Amino acid sequence: MAKNNKQVYDSRLAKSVFNIKHQRTFCMVKPDGVMRGLVGEILRRIEKSGLRIVAMKMLVPNQEIIKKHYPASDEAWVKRLGDKGISALEGLNLDVVETYGTDDRRELGDMVVKSLIEYMQSGPCVAMVVEGVQAIDMVRKLAGSTIPSQAEMGTIRGDFSVDTPAVANVEKRAIHNIFHASENAAEAENEIKLWFAGEKIHDYSLAGDEVMYNKHY
Ligand code: ADP
Ligand code: MG
Repeated sequence: MAKNNKQVYDSRLAKSVFNIKHQRTFCMVKPDGVMRGLVGEILRRIEKSGLRIVAMKMLVPNQEIIKKHYPASDEAWVKRLGDKGISALEGLNLDVVETYGTDDRRELGDMVVKSLIEYMQSGPCVAMVVEGVQAIDMVRKLAGSTIPSQAEMGTIRGDFSVDTPAVANVEKRAIHNIFHASENAAEAENEIKLWFAGEKIHDYSLAGDEVMYNKHY
């Protein structure tokens, strides 16, 4: 009996570990990243980390897909965009109302959503699905934080952009931060379904997986 229970536990555990190793996330080189010739550099960083690219395509997204991608009907998410803009003014000696025309988080968030739709359609994007150990958090780490001027050096956003909401919003545009990555499991699932609906997600092993994930000593 005890042995059977142990077997059940082992197989559940094995399944969980399999899922951790095969976690999938969605990410995208945004139009500014493509136009600056950074696709290869970004793919290199993803591949070098040991993650696998299991689907990829280049497209100019239509308005419909962008509106589904960014949850503009989610008030908390829209307000968070506004918050990011307001908090980015700290230390810049700029007045919130004078800079943005409002200090209302929702109003500012709505303005950002509008500019995001224009930004994402300003040229081709390279969309992909990336798989591997804790891929969602790993790709977010590679991306760095939303506001490039605050993103750590060594991250995609920190290394290749110095943009900030104070400048972006006065110029009535979204922050140009080169790269998108799903923030959590729910976003990853929705975004993969949205951008790769009915498309093949590939399955293969990297040569390095053998050394990384098998005990060979
Ligand atoms: P992330 O892309 O890091 O997940 P969000 O989901 O909060 O960040 O925002 C989506 C995108 O909207 C950002 O990547 C950025 O291009 C843009 N953005 C966010 N906040 C602002 C802001 N205050 N002003 C202008 N653009 C913004
Ligand atoms: Mg986000």
